[in-house]
Amino acid sequence: MPIAVSACLLGEPCRFDGESRPCEAVLRLRATHELVGVCPETLGGLPVPRTPREIVATERALRVVDADGGDATDAFLAGAAKTTELVRERGCTLAVLKAKSPSCGNGFVYDGTFSGALVPGYGVAARALREAGVRVVDEAQFAACLKAGEARHPGCAPAVLATTSA
Ligand code: SF4
Repeated sequence: MPIAVSACLLGEPCRFDGESRPCEAVLRLRATHELVGVCPETLGGLPVPRTPREIVATERALRVVDADGGDATDAFLAGAAKTTELVRERGCTLAVLKAKSPSCGNGFVYDGTFSGALVPGYGVAARALREAGVRVVDEAQFAACLKAGEARHPGCAPAVLATTSA
């Protein structure tokens, strides 16, 4: 079963600051699964490096902005759509995404004040994947599942855990 993974967790230097965030628990999956790296923000046409952005939820809609209020919502939505299309094409039913990101965050995201504060919510691509029926976990949730040896989080596929905990 191919698994979609945030490309920065695989060591791709695609973050806004040009760096990556390789995750050992995720990298170990390479031994047993085909991993499909996705970076929704670069798929949406944003460059590396790029201006950091956060989600601001208004009464009417969700926006993704930089600290000066510059609006990049369209690029984030385009990236989420391309990510979902790619993940579907490759047949992935599970995605392990980077925590807290305005694209990939799963359960908590930065609150739009650029202060490091978090609020409950989902990144734009994580939300789109969930709505498309893909199970989504972040790397910390995934690592916690592996450590516990059981599917504590509803998005963790027991089959993956069984394969990787050996
Ligand atoms: Fe990583 Fe997702 Fe940000 Fe791309 S959009 S750098 S995959 S967290």
